[in-house]
Amino acid sequence: MSALTKREANSTQQKTIAIAGAGLVGAFAALALSRARPDWQVVLLDPEPGVPRQDPRTLALALRSFLALEEAGVISLLNNADFTPIQTIHVSDTTGPGRAQMKAATEGVPALGYVLEARYLQQALAKACEASAVVWRKGVRIQSIESTPTHQQLTLSDHSELAADLLVVTDGTQSPTRSLLGIDVTQQHYPQQALAGFIEVDRPHGQIAYERFTEQGPMALLPCGQRRFALVWCAQPERMSALMALDDDGFLSAAQQRFGGRAGRFVKATRQGSFPLSMRWAERMLAHRTVLIGNACHALHPVAGQGYNLGVRDVLALVQHLNYCYDPGAIAVLNAYSEQRQPDYQGVRLFTDGLVGLFSNDQALLSAGRRTGLAALSGFSCLGSLLAQKAMGFGAQESLWR
Ligand SMILES: Cc1cc2nc3c(=O)[nH]c(=O)nc-3n(C[C@H](O)[C@H](O)[C@H](O)COP(=O)(O)OP(=O)(O)OC[C@H]3O[C@@H](n4cnc5c(N)ncnc54)[C@H](O)[C@@H]3O)c2cc1C
Repeated sequence: MSALTKREANSTQQKTIAIAGAGLVGAFAALALSRARPDWQVVLLDPEPGVPRQDPRTLALALRSFLALEEAGVISLLNNADFTPIQTIHVSDTTGPGRAQMKAATEGVPALGYVLEARYLQQALAKACEASAVVWRKGVRIQSIESTPTHQQLTLSDHSELAADLLVVTDGTQSPTRSLLGIDVTQQHYPQQALAGFIEVDRPHGQIAYERFTEQGPMALLPCGQRRFALVWCAQPERMSALMALDDDGFLSAAQQRFGGRAGRFVKATRQGSFPLSMRWAERMLAHRTVLIGNACHALHPVAGQGYNLGVRDVLALVQHLNYCYDPGAIAVLNAYSEQRQPDYQGVRLFTDGLVGLFSNDQALLSAGRRTGLAALSGFSCLGSLLAQKAMGFGAQESLWR
Protein backbone atom coordinates (compact mmCIF):
# COMPACT_ATOMS: atom_id res chain seq x y z
CA MET A 1 0.00 0.00 0.00
CA SER A 2 1.53 3.30 -0.96
CA ALA A 3 2.12 5.78 1.85
CA LEU A 4 -0.03 8.92 1.84
CA THR A 5 1.79 12.17 1.18
CA LYS A 6 1.51 14.71 3.99
CA ARG A 7 -0.78 16.78 1.82
CA GLU A 8 -3.07 13.80 1.19
CA ALA A 9 -3.00 12.89 4.87
CA ASN A 10 -4.03 16.42 5.85
CA SER A 11 -6.88 16.35 3.39
CA THR A 12 -8.25 13.13 4.86
CA GLN A 13 -7.81 14.18 8.50
CA GLN A 14 -10.98 14.70 10.46
CA LYS A 15 -11.98 18.34 10.33
CA THR A 16 -13.50 20.26 13.22
CA ILE A 17 -16.29 22.79 12.86
CA ALA A 18 -16.89 24.92 15.97
CA ILE A 19 -20.32 26.57 16.16
CA ALA A 20 -20.53 29.44 18.67
CA GLY A 21 -24.16 29.69 19.84
CA ALA A 22 -26.72 26.86 20.26
CA GLY A 23 -29.77 29.07 19.59
CA LEU A 24 -32.30 28.52 16.83
CA VAL A 25 -29.80 28.96 13.98
CA GLY A 26 -26.72 27.43 15.67
CA ALA A 27 -28.47 24.25 16.79
CA PHE A 28 -29.95 23.77 13.31
CA ALA A 29 -26.54 24.42 11.70
CA ALA A 30 -24.92 21.83 13.99
CA LEU A 31 -27.53 19.22 13.12
CA ALA A 32 -27.46 19.86 9.40
CA LEU A 33 -23.65 19.89 9.21
CA SER A 34 -23.22 16.74 11.29
CA ARG A 35 -25.69 14.95 9.02
CA ALA A 36 -24.05 16.23 5.84
CA ARG A 37 -20.48 15.53 7.02
CA PRO A 38 -20.42 12.53 9.41
CA ASP A 39 -16.64 12.41 8.73
CA TRP A 40 -16.18 15.74 10.53
CA GLN A 41 -16.48 16.67 14.19
CA VAL A 42 -19.13 19.34 14.87
CA VAL A 43 -18.72 21.07 18.25
CA LEU A 44 -21.54 23.29 19.51
CA LEU A 45 -20.64 25.87 22.20
CA ASP A 46 -23.07 27.87 24.31
CA PRO A 47 -22.74 29.61 27.70
CA GLU A 48 -26.15 28.30 28.79
CA PRO A 49 -25.80 25.28 31.11
CA GLY A 50 -28.95 23.67 29.63
CA VAL A 51 -31.23 24.22 26.63
CA PRO A 52 -30.78 27.88 25.58
CA ARG A 53 -33.68 30.01 26.73
CA GLN A 54 -35.87 31.70 24.16
CA ASP A 55 -38.10 34.63 25.02
CA PRO A 56 -41.78 33.78 24.51
CA ARG A 57 -41.80 35.01 20.91
CA THR A 58 -43.81 33.27 18.24
CA LEU A 59 -42.27 32.55 14.86
CA ALA A 60 -43.89 32.39 11.45
CA LEU A 61 -41.87 29.69 9.72
CA ALA A 62 -41.83 29.86 5.94
CA LEU A 63 -42.74 26.57 4.27
CA ARG A 64 -39.16 26.16 3.10
CA SER A 65 -37.82 26.47 6.67
CA PHE A 66 -40.43 24.02 7.94
CA LEU A 67 -39.47 21.48 5.28
CA ALA A 68 -35.78 21.87 6.09
CA LEU A 69 -36.45 21.33 9.81
CA GLU A 70 -38.65 18.37 8.96
CA GLU A 71 -35.89 16.80 6.89
CA ALA A 72 -33.45 17.29 9.78
CA GLY A 73 -35.81 15.28 12.03
CA VAL A 74 -36.79 18.27 14.20
CA ILE A 75 -40.50 18.60 13.38
CA SER A 76 -41.25 14.99 14.36
CA LEU A 77 -40.04 15.88 17.89
CA LEU A 78 -42.78 18.49 18.26
CA ASN A 79 -46.38 17.77 19.26
CA ASN A 80 -48.88 18.47 16.50
CA ALA A 81 -50.53 21.02 18.79
CA ASP A 82 -47.23 22.97 18.99
CA PHE A 83 -47.51 24.32 15.45
CA THR A 84 -50.36 25.76 13.42
CA PRO A 85 -50.43 25.74 9.60
CA ILE A 86 -51.14 29.01 7.78
CA GLN A 87 -53.63 28.38 4.97
CA THR A 88 -54.30 32.02 4.09
CA ILE A 89 -52.38 35.26 4.50
CA HIS A 90 -54.69 38.26 4.59
CA VAL A 91 -53.12 41.71 4.15
CA SER A 92 -55.11 44.90 4.69
CA ASP A 93 -54.73 48.58 5.44
CA THR A 94 -56.67 50.69 7.97
CA THR A 95 -56.61 53.77 5.76
CA GLY A 96 -58.54 52.27 2.86
CA PRO A 97 -60.43 49.33 1.40
CA GLY A 98 -57.36 47.70 -0.27
CA ARG A 99 -56.67 44.12 0.74
CA ALA A 100 -54.89 41.06 -0.63
CA GLN A 101 -55.02 37.37 0.12
CA MET A 102 -52.62 34.52 -0.57
CA LYS A 103 -53.89 30.97 -0.26
CA ALA A 104 -52.06 27.67 0.10
CA ALA A 105 -54.65 25.97 -2.12
CA THR A 106 -53.95 28.45 -4.95
CA GLU A 107 -50.22 27.78 -4.64
CA GLY A 108 -50.79 24.01 -4.54
CA VAL A 109 -48.98 23.56 -1.21
CA PRO A 110 -50.15 22.06 2.11
CA ALA A 111 -49.59 25.38 3.93
CA LEU A 112 -47.96 28.76 3.23
CA GLY A 113 -46.06 28.44 6.49
CA TYR A 114 -46.42 27.39 10.11
CA VAL A 115 -46.61 29.27 13.40
CA LEU A 116 -44.91 28.02 16.52
CA GLU A 117 -43.44 29.33 19.73
CA ALA A 118 -39.66 29.73 19.60
CA ARG A 119 -39.19 27.85 22.90
CA TYR A 120 -40.82 24.68 21.53
CA LEU A 121 -38.60 24.80 18.46
CA GLN A 122 -35.53 25.36 20.64
CA GLN A 123 -36.42 22.32 22.78
CA ALA A 124 -36.94 20.11 19.71
CA LEU A 125 -33.63 21.29 18.21
CA ALA A 126 -31.89 20.50 21.51
CA LYS A 127 -33.38 16.97 21.58
CA ALA A 128 -32.32 16.37 17.99
CA CYS A 129 -28.77 17.60 18.72
CA GLU A 130 -28.52 15.38 21.78
CA ALA A 131 -29.57 12.34 19.72
CA SER A 132 -27.03 13.16 16.99
CA ALA A 133 -23.23 13.07 16.65
CA VAL A 134 -22.99 16.77 17.56
CA VAL A 135 -20.61 17.41 20.48
CA TRP A 136 -22.54 19.96 22.54
CA ARG A 137 -20.44 21.75 25.12
CA LYS A 138 -22.81 23.49 27.52
CA GLY A 139 -21.85 26.34 29.83
CA VAL A 140 -18.87 27.31 27.68
CA ARG A 141 -18.05 30.43 25.69
CA ILE A 142 -15.08 31.50 23.58
CA GLN A 143 -12.62 33.55 25.59
CA SER A 144 -10.08 34.35 22.87
CA ILE A 145 -9.33 33.51 19.25
CA GLU A 146 -5.90 33.12 17.70
CA SER A 147 -5.66 32.72 13.95
CA THR A 148 -3.10 30.31 12.51
CA PRO A 149 -2.88 29.46 8.80
CA THR A 150 -4.68 26.14 9.31
CA HIS A 151 -7.04 26.86 12.22
CA GLN A 152 -8.87 29.25 14.45
CA GLN A 153 -7.37 28.37 17.81
CA LEU A 154 -10.09 28.93 20.43
CA THR A 155 -9.48 29.32 24.15
CA LEU A 156 -12.70 28.50 25.98
CA SER A 157 -14.02 29.79 29.29
CA ASP A 158 -13.30 26.40 30.96
CA HIS A 159 -9.60 26.97 29.99
CA SER A 160 -9.65 24.23 27.36
CA GLU A 161 -8.45 24.79 23.78
CA LEU A 162 -10.19 23.91 20.52
CA ALA A 163 -8.58 24.03 17.08
CA ALA A 164 -11.34 24.74 14.56
CA ASP A 165 -10.89 24.33 10.82
CA LEU A 166 -13.97 26.52 10.54
CA LEU A 167 -15.68 28.72 13.14
CA VAL A 168 -19.40 29.36 12.52
CA VAL A 169 -20.64 32.32 14.57
CA THR A 170 -24.30 31.96 15.61
CA ASP A 171 -24.40 33.75 18.97
CA GLY A 172 -27.25 36.11 18.10
CA THR A 173 -27.81 39.84 17.75
CA GLN A 174 -25.30 40.99 20.40
CA SER A 175 -22.74 38.37 19.25
CA PRO A 176 -19.83 38.48 21.73
CA THR A 177 -17.81 36.34 19.27
CA ARG A 178 -18.32 38.93 16.52
CA SER A 179 -16.88 41.53 18.94
CA LEU A 180 -13.88 39.27 19.68
CA LEU A 181 -13.26 39.13 15.93
CA GLY A 182 -13.42 42.95 15.74
CA ILE A 183 -16.30 42.97 13.26
CA ASP A 184 -18.52 46.05 13.53
CA VAL A 185 -22.23 46.25 12.81
CA THR A 186 -24.17 48.91 10.98
CA GLN A 187 -27.42 49.60 12.71
CA GLN A 188 -30.54 51.32 11.51
CA HIS A 189 -33.04 52.31 14.19
CA TYR A 190 -36.73 52.48 13.35
CA PRO A 191 -38.86 55.04 15.13
CA GLN A 192 -41.01 52.17 16.36
CA GLN A 193 -41.31 49.57 19.09
CA ALA A 194 -42.88 46.13 18.87
CA LEU A 195 -45.29 44.65 21.35
CA ALA A 196 -45.57 40.86 21.52
CA GLY A 197 -48.52 39.00 23.06
CA PHE A 198 -51.52 36.79 22.44
CA ILE A 199 -55.17 37.46 21.58
CA GLU A 200 -57.92 34.93 22.23
CA VAL A 201 -60.99 35.20 19.99
CA ASP A 202 -64.58 33.96 20.12
CA ARG A 203 -64.32 31.73 17.03
CA PRO A 204 -61.84 29.43 15.24
CA HIS A 205 -59.15 31.36 13.35
CA GLY A 206 -59.52 29.28 10.19
CA GLN A 207 -55.69 29.09 9.92
CA ILE A 208 -55.62 32.65 8.59
CA ALA A 209 -52.66 34.94 9.33
CA TYR A 210 -53.49 38.65 9.23
CA GLU A 211 -51.10 41.48 8.51
CA ARG A 212 -52.83 44.83 9.02
CA PHE A 213 -51.03 48.05 8.19
CA THR A 214 -52.06 51.00 10.27
CA GLU A 215 -50.95 54.61 10.04
CA GLN A 216 -48.90 54.02 13.20
CA GLY A 217 -47.26 50.74 12.25
CA PRO A 218 -48.02 47.17 11.21
CA MET A 219 -50.01 44.72 13.31
CA ALA A 220 -49.76 40.96 12.73
CA LEU A 221 -52.05 38.25 14.06
CA LEU A 222 -50.69 34.74 13.55
CA PRO A 223 -52.96 31.71 14.17
CA CYS A 224 -51.48 29.88 17.12
CA GLY A 225 -53.47 27.18 18.93
CA GLN A 226 -57.25 26.77 18.67
CA ARG A 227 -58.92 30.17 19.09
CA ARG A 228 -55.79 32.15 19.70
CA PHE A 229 -53.53 34.44 17.71
CA ALA A 230 -49.98 35.51 18.47
CA LEU A 231 -49.85 39.30 18.24
CA VAL A 232 -47.01 41.52 17.04
CA TRP A 233 -48.00 45.18 17.10
CA CYS A 234 -45.52 47.85 16.04
CA ALA A 235 -46.09 51.49 17.02
CA GLN A 236 -44.25 54.72 17.71
CA PRO A 237 -42.67 54.87 21.21
CA GLU A 238 -45.23 57.32 22.73
CA ARG A 239 -48.12 55.24 21.44
CA MET A 240 -46.41 52.06 22.71
CA SER A 241 -45.98 53.55 26.22
CA ALA A 242 -49.70 54.41 26.19
CA LEU A 243 -50.62 50.87 25.06
CA MET A 244 -48.45 49.27 27.74
CA ALA A 245 -49.96 51.55 30.41
CA LEU A 246 -53.57 50.50 29.62
CA ASP A 247 -55.31 47.99 31.88
CA ASP A 248 -56.21 44.61 30.32
CA ASP A 249 -59.74 45.66 29.26
CA GLY A 250 -58.48 48.94 27.82
CA PHE A 251 -55.78 47.13 25.86
CA LEU A 252 -58.26 44.54 24.56
CA SER A 253 -60.59 47.20 23.19
CA ALA A 254 -57.68 49.27 21.74
CA ALA A 255 -56.48 46.14 19.87
CA GLN A 256 -59.99 45.32 18.64
CA GLN A 257 -60.58 48.89 17.50
CA ARG A 258 -57.26 49.04 15.64
CA PHE A 259 -57.67 45.63 14.04
CA GLY A 260 -61.41 45.64 13.30
CA GLY A 261 -63.77 42.66 13.34
CA ARG A 262 -62.48 40.39 10.56
CA ALA A 263 -60.89 37.86 12.95
CA GLY A 264 -63.86 37.81 15.36
CA ARG A 265 -64.41 39.32 18.79
CA PHE A 266 -61.31 39.61 20.95
CA VAL A 267 -62.06 38.07 24.35
CA LYS A 268 -58.68 38.09 26.09
CA ALA A 269 -55.33 39.75 25.48
CA THR A 270 -51.96 38.99 27.05
CA ARG A 271 -49.04 41.40 26.66
CA GLN A 272 -45.60 39.85 26.95
CA GLY A 273 -43.61 43.04 26.60
CA SER A 274 -42.37 45.64 24.14
CA PHE A 275 -38.94 46.25 22.68
CA PRO A 276 -37.23 48.76 20.35
CA LEU A 277 -36.83 47.86 16.69
CA SER A 278 -33.73 48.11 14.59
CA MET A 279 -32.05 46.39 11.68
CA ARG A 280 -28.38 45.38 12.12
CA TRP A 281 -25.93 43.96 9.61
CA ALA A 282 -22.41 42.79 10.34
CA GLU A 283 -19.98 44.82 8.25
CA ARG A 284 -18.40 41.54 7.11
CA MET A 285 -19.83 38.04 7.15
CA LEU A 286 -16.41 36.38 6.74
CA ALA A 287 -13.14 36.42 8.66
CA HIS A 288 -10.15 34.04 8.61
CA ARG A 289 -11.70 30.50 8.69
CA THR A 290 -14.86 32.08 10.07
CA VAL A 291 -18.40 32.74 8.85
CA LEU A 292 -21.19 34.69 10.58
CA ILE A 293 -24.76 33.46 10.07
CA GLY A 294 -28.20 34.07 11.63
CA ASN A 295 -28.74 37.11 13.83
CA ALA A 296 -24.98 37.44 14.44
CA CYS A 297 -24.85 38.47 10.77
CA HIS A 298 -28.26 40.12 10.30
CA ALA A 299 -31.02 41.11 12.75
CA LEU A 300 -34.16 42.29 10.98
CA HIS A 301 -37.37 44.15 11.82
CA PRO A 302 -39.95 41.42 12.60
CA VAL A 303 -42.56 42.99 10.28
CA ALA A 304 -41.94 40.52 7.46
CA GLY A 305 -41.24 37.48 9.69
CA GLN A 306 -37.96 36.93 7.85
CA GLY A 307 -35.22 36.79 10.53
CA TYR A 308 -35.10 33.11 11.38
CA ASN A 309 -36.13 32.11 7.89
CA LEU A 310 -33.10 33.97 6.54
CA GLY A 311 -30.91 32.17 9.11
CA VAL A 312 -32.28 28.80 7.97
CA ARG A 313 -31.39 29.70 4.37
CA ASP A 314 -27.86 30.62 5.58
CA VAL A 315 -27.54 27.11 7.03
CA LEU A 316 -28.87 25.42 3.87
CA ALA A 317 -26.43 27.35 1.67
CA LEU A 318 -23.49 26.68 4.01
CA VAL A 319 -24.21 22.95 4.03
CA GLN A 320 -24.40 22.99 0.24
CA HIS A 321 -20.92 24.58 0.02
CA LEU A 322 -19.34 22.37 2.69
CA ASN A 323 -20.84 19.15 1.38
CA TYR A 324 -18.09 18.22 -1.04
CA CYS A 325 -15.06 20.24 0.10
CA TYR A 326 -11.86 19.05 1.79
CA ASP A 327 -11.13 22.17 3.80
CA PRO A 328 -14.21 23.84 5.30
CA GLY A 329 -12.27 27.01 6.17
CA ALA A 330 -10.71 27.48 2.71
CA ILE A 331 -11.18 31.04 1.55
CA ALA A 332 -12.50 29.91 -1.86
CA VAL A 333 -15.27 27.91 -0.16
CA LEU A 334 -16.25 30.77 2.14
CA ASN A 335 -16.15 33.33 -0.68
CA ALA A 336 -18.42 31.14 -2.80
CA TYR A 337 -20.87 30.89 0.11
CA SER A 338 -20.76 34.63 0.71
CA GLU A 339 -21.36 35.43 -2.95
CA GLN A 340 -24.31 33.09 -3.12
CA ARG A 341 -25.96 34.73 -0.09
CA GLN A 342 -25.74 38.32 -1.35
CA PRO A 343 -28.86 38.43 -3.58
CA ASP A 344 -31.01 36.91 -0.81
CA TYR A 345 -29.66 39.40 1.75
CA GLN A 346 -30.22 42.35 -0.55
CA GLY A 347 -33.73 41.18 -1.42
CA VAL A 348 -34.75 40.68 2.21
CA ARG A 349 -33.22 44.00 3.23
CA LEU A 350 -35.09 45.90 0.53
CA PHE A 351 -38.31 43.98 1.17
CA THR A 352 -38.26 44.52 4.95
CA ASP A 353 -37.07 48.12 4.84
CA GLY A 354 -39.55 48.93 2.08
CA LEU A 355 -42.43 47.35 4.01
CA VAL A 356 -41.57 49.26 7.17
CA GLY A 357 -41.30 52.57 5.28
CA LEU A 358 -44.35 52.07 3.09
CA PHE A 359 -46.66 50.53 5.63
CA SER A 360 -45.89 52.52 8.74
CA ASN A 361 -46.28 55.97 7.30
CA ASP A 362 -49.45 57.99 7.30
CA GLN A 363 -48.47 60.41 4.55
CA ALA A 364 -51.34 60.59 2.06
CA LEU A 365 -49.15 59.70 -0.93
CA LEU A 366 -47.74 56.60 0.74
CA SER A 367 -51.07 55.35 1.99
CA ALA A 368 -52.51 55.83 -1.51
CA GLY A 369 -49.49 53.87 -2.82
CA ARG A 370 -50.11 50.94 -0.53
CA ARG A 371 -53.83 50.87 -1.32
CA THR A 372 -52.89 50.68 -5.01
CA GLY A 373 -50.35 47.96 -4.18
CA LEU A 374 -52.90 45.89 -2.30
CA ALA A 375 -55.46 46.35 -5.09
CA ALA A 376 -52.82 45.19 -7.60
CA LEU A 377 -52.07 42.15 -5.45
CA SER A 378 -55.72 41.19 -5.24
CA GLY A 379 -56.32 41.86 -8.96
CA PHE A 380 -53.32 40.00 -10.39
CA SER A 381 -52.97 36.49 -9.08
CA CYS A 382 -49.38 36.21 -10.42
CA LEU A 383 -48.28 39.10 -8.15
CA GLY A 384 -49.99 37.43 -5.22
CA SER A 385 -48.20 34.18 -6.11
CA LEU A 386 -44.83 35.94 -6.19
CA LEU A 387 -45.47 37.42 -2.75
CA ALA A 388 -46.67 34.02 -1.55
CA GLN A 389 -43.42 32.45 -2.83
CA LYS A 390 -41.51 35.08 -0.87
CA ALA A 391 -43.60 34.39 2.24
CA MET A 392 -42.93 30.67 1.84
CA GLY A 393 -39.19 31.42 1.69
CA PHE A 394 -38.58 30.59 -1.97
CA GLY A 395 -36.98 32.84 -4.58
CA ALA A 396 -38.92 33.32 -7.83
CA GLN A 397 -36.51 30.94 -9.60
CA GLU A 398 -36.71 28.15 -7.06
CA SER A 399 -38.89 25.09 -7.03
CA LEU A 400 -41.24 24.85 -4.07
CA TRP A 401 -39.92 21.55 -2.84
CA ARG A 402 -36.17 22.07 -3.19
C1 LIG B 1 -40.86 39.94 18.12
C2 LIG B 1 -40.08 39.13 17.14
C3 LIG B 1 -40.77 38.35 16.25
C4 LIG B 1 -40.07 37.58 15.32
N1 LIG B 1 -40.78 36.85 14.44
C5 LIG B 1 -40.15 36.14 13.51
C6 LIG B 1 -40.89 35.36 12.57
O1 LIG B 1 -42.12 35.34 12.60
N2 LIG B 1 -40.20 34.63 11.65
C7 LIG B 1 -38.83 34.64 11.60
O2 LIG B 1 -38.26 33.98 10.72
N3 LIG B 1 -38.10 35.36 12.48
C8 LIG B 1 -38.71 36.10 13.43
N4 LIG B 1 -37.99 36.81 14.33
C9 LIG B 1 -36.51 36.73 14.29
C10 LIG B 1 -35.95 35.46 14.97
O3 LIG B 1 -36.46 35.38 16.30
C11 LIG B 1 -34.43 35.52 15.01
O4 LIG B 1 -33.94 35.76 13.71
C12 LIG B 1 -33.80 34.20 15.51
O5 LIG B 1 -34.25 33.90 16.81
C13 LIG B 1 -32.28 34.30 15.51
O6 LIG B 1 -31.70 33.07 15.88
P1 LIG B 1 -30.14 32.99 16.24
O7 LIG B 1 -29.85 31.55 16.49
O8 LIG B 1 -29.33 33.72 15.24
O9 LIG B 1 -30.02 33.78 17.61
P2 LIG B 1 -30.57 33.30 19.04
O10 LIG B 1 -31.71 32.36 18.90
O11 LIG B 1 -30.72 34.57 19.80
O12 LIG B 1 -29.38 32.44 19.68
C14 LIG B 1 -28.17 32.98 20.12
C15 LIG B 1 -27.47 31.91 20.98
O13 LIG B 1 -26.14 32.36 21.26
C16 LIG B 1 -25.84 32.02 22.59
N5 LIG B 1 -24.71 32.86 23.04
C17 LIG B 1 -24.72 34.07 23.61
N6 LIG B 1 -23.47 34.46 23.86
C18 LIG B 1 -22.64 33.48 23.41
C19 LIG B 1 -21.22 33.31 23.39
N7 LIG B 1 -20.36 34.22 23.85
N8 LIG B 1 -20.72 32.15 22.85
C20 LIG B 1 -21.56 31.20 22.36
N9 LIG B 1 -22.89 31.33 22.38
C21 LIG B 1 -23.42 32.45 22.90
C22 LIG B 1 -27.15 32.23 23.35
O14 LIG B 1 -27.16 31.51 24.59
C23 LIG B 1 -28.15 31.67 22.34
O15 LIG B 1 -28.33 30.29 22.53
C24 LIG B 1 -38.65 37.61 15.27
C25 LIG B 1 -37.95 38.41 16.17
C26 LIG B 1 -38.65 39.18 17.08
C27 LIG B 1 -37.86 40.06 18.02
